[in-house]
Amino acid sequence: MAIHVGVITEIAADERRIAMTPDIAGRLATLGGRVFVEAGAGRGAFFDDAAFQHRSAIITDRQTVLTESAILWTVQPPAADVIAAMRPNSMVMGLMLPHQSPDRVRQLCAQHLTAFGMELIPRVTRAQTMDVLSSQATIAGYKATLLAAQLSGVFFPMLTTAAGTIRPAKVLILGAGVAGLQASATARRLGALVEAYDVRRAAKEEVESLGARFIGLPIDAATTGGYARALTAEERAQEEQVVAEHVAKADVVITTAQIPGRPAPRLIDRTTVEQMRPGAVIVDLAAESGGNCACTTAGSVTLHHGVTIAGPRNIASTLPGQASEMYAKNCLNFYCLLTREGTSLDPDWNDEIIAGALLVRDGTIRHEPTREQMEGAPQ
Ligand code: NAD
Repeated sequence: MAIHVGVITEIAADERRIAMTPDIAGRLATLGGRVFVEAGAGRGAFFDDAAFQHRSAIITDRQTVLTESAILWTVQPPAADVIAAMRPNSMVMGLMLPHQSPDRVRQLCAQHLTAFGMELIPRVTRAQTMDVLSSQATIAGYKATLLAAQLSGVFFPMLTTAAGTIRPAKVLILGAGVAGLQASATARRLGALVEAYDVRRAAKEEVESLGARFIGLPIDAATTGGYARALTAEERAQEEQVVAEHVAKADVVITTAQIPGRPAPRLIDRTTVEQMRPGAVIVDLAAESGGNCACTTAGSVTLHHGVTIAGPRNIASTLPGQASEMYAKNCLNFYCLLTREGTSLDPDWNDEIIAGALLVRDGTIRHEPTREQMEGAPQ
């Protein structure tokens, strides 16, 4: 029996990605799956219905996709009306963002759906090909540098012209994880002088391999999972001083610092912004989780003391075709783990990747931190 896989139009504001591409639909057909795509669902990412049909997908209306699908692939968490229209005991995989909407998690339980959070997949080596956080952060880092170059009033490269020599821009990257490294690499390619700061010592070698200068503290705040921990008050005071010194000299600052499960660390306060030169630019990629800069407004570009501050939301969606290609490949790799010989959805619930990504099954919350938080949350 062919597994029915469904994809619907993403309706969240500014969301142009789709969880499936025609190429991946074709690969699913080869694996024995049957793909149902809502008419027009790929439009925002420049994939038309004919391209899906050409790869054996069935183009139909939204309701039919939802009732036909044994498993639905999404980018954003499914909306309440989508969950209500899904077949009980069917599956859904996509970003689930459980902490942002406990009600949605309860509804998934009530509807007896099995839900996997693509962002919950453990970041172990075997799961690298399914890692949507990395694939989308790569895009975010790249686009953040382009946005900064666009907003900035200075050239990034050094230029020698008859009208004089122009010095290269000084770009400072705060947080040298996946997004920060890609932002550094892109700024280097544009010819800027790049410095990058992180609290994980392992980031030093990666930053230097890109031809950028590493700025660190005399500590290593890496956890065993490879992420950063929150800093102590004393460490934060050290950080404030080091960061302020470098921010004041930069033409462009791109901030990407995050601590999993917590608000983004505050790295640039208002006074530090006021010490920057007029015309300088800050692009704050942590805007949606509280911002690394005190002056950031999520979803807006603002001006403070002559400094332009951008807090883009869902920046990966601004490269919709390739963001979808990367996301859909991540989905396909995870989906293959859920299936047996392409003919049945038969996950090994003990597999650490499946167990880690599992949010809801059989009417109960299976993801440990989420369950704890929901039990503590008001009903
Ligand atoms: P992230 O988005 O959680 O954080 C971004 C960066 O912010 C990190 O480099 C973090 O160290 C940094 N940061 C946090 N607090 C900071 C502060 N106060 N000042 C400056 N920087 C701060 O992390 P990410 O980019 O998704 O991943 C971070 C690391 O996780 C990677 O570099 C890698 O080592 C590891 N990782 C492993 C895998 C895997 O094995 N599959 C996949 C992805 C990432």
